[in-house]
Amino acid sequence: MKNTRKSVMLISSLLSAGIANHQNTFAAENVKTSKPNFIIILADDMGYGDVGVFGHPTIRTPNLDKMASEGQKWTSFYVAAPVCTPSRAGLLTGRLPIRTGMCSEKRRVLFPNSNGGLPEKEITIASALKTAGYSTACIGKWHLGHLPQFAPNAHGFDYYYGIPYSNDMDVKETNNYVSYVTSPKIDYFNVPLMRNSEIIERPADQTTITKRYTQEATNFIKHNKDKPFFLYLAHSMPHVPLFRSKEFENISLRGIYGDVIEELDWSVGEILTALKQNGLEKNTFVIFTSDNGPWTLFQDQGGSAGLLSGGKGGTYEGGMREPTIIRWPGTLKPGVIMDMATTMDLLPTFSKLANISLPNDRIYDGYDITPVLFGTGKDPRDIVYYYRDVEIFAIRKGVYKAHFRTQPEYGSEVVTVQDPPLLFNLNIDPSERHNVADKHPEIIAEMKKILEKHQASVVPVENQLEK
Ligand code: MG
Repeated sequence: MKNTRKSVMLISSLLSAGIANHQNTFAAENVKTSKPNFIIILADDMGYGDVGVFGHPTIRTPNLDKMASEGQKWTSFYVAAPVCTPSRAGLLTGRLPIRTGMCSEKRRVLFPNSNGGLPEKEITIASALKTAGYSTACIGKWHLGHLPQFAPNAHGFDYYYGIPYSNDMDVKETNNYVSYVTSPKIDYFNVPLMRNSEIIERPADQTTITKRYTQEATNFIKHNKDKPFFLYLAHSMPHVPLFRSKEFENISLRGIYGDVIEELDWSVGEILTALKQNGLEKNTFVIFTSDNGPWTLFQDQGGSAGLLSGGKGGTYEGGMREPTIIRWPGTLKPGVIMDMATTMDLLPTFSKLANISLPNDRIYDGYDITPVLFGTGKDPRDIVYYYRDVEIFAIRKGVYKAHFRTQPEYGSEVVTVQDPPLLFNLNIDPSERHNVADKHPEIIAEMKKILEKHQASVVPVENQLEK
């Protein structure tokens, strides 16, 4: 009581001196600076070449292009796996999916009849940030287990709104899958739309899904403008079946896939505008990327990896190198960043920026990449592992990438063991066309050692995708 009265007296004397507002603003900024907000915008199955600033000739992405010019365009940014579930597990935990049981060659992702999910003991970006007082929301596709014990609310998210798995699931007639996906109607896919643990619409009206995710995201930003927050906006698009809202029908020269990307780009613009309107621009780290490469199986309804080979499902660059843009005005120097990083680096990096220490009872595969973000030091990451399900198919170290195994992304069980491995210099040959293995036996020998050492670090865990 005494203290309250004292504060009131202090505030009134400051007001009379005309400096209270200034003081308050200063204090608020200080608090915010010590704990920046984080936003991850994740597209689903968008290719490296599907963004204007990454070279697409007919898809218009003015908001992403502007975000890149005001921020950093990362050209060697990878995901943990070339398909949805393991990629998302890697992003949120900072650990390779092989360590969390979130990959399988029998079932490459989780399905509506799966009984597994991200284990309770795993620490997600959301649960880590909760310990530092963050508000957290997951809006969009989850795909890390739809049963309550695996759902976003069980993994550190205060709020969830979205379709809990892929938008092509719960298909009405399995035999008609391909025709349904390529000529889609809402009721072909009986996917639920959930708010926290409640189903609020089924089938979800996917034509308005991008728009509604965006509204939910901007509302969350507005409601949390006075406290630190983490927003994980994981779009269901452009994963097939493709849907877009009325305003985006037939607007793109690239057909329906282009319409969908242009709506996603609009969504990015809405998020950045919401930050500006709420005075949060300078205190918010925003990253845009994709969970895996384009699903080229669906031809013009799948995206493009641009100059990269392969796509979703495989371990050529197109499957796992993603169009990535990071923006944090006033803190990050704009530019093109060619250093390597992965989505698994986000957890250690956000933890560093929010002043959280990670436990040392587990292996992290992510690194704190603040030295690269701030331009103050060397890239802590020199190696990328390319897992296809439970096997390592390729390793990148520095500029070289060795493929120990190759397999078509979809449609073939045949694995070709490459001995000696195929070797590509990714700086010179990002399309992986010119095998230089015979010129560099010493690099092949080093890659084999890295492979053995890494494999020795992997401890078998219960497989969640086969449950
Ligand atoms: Mg995906």
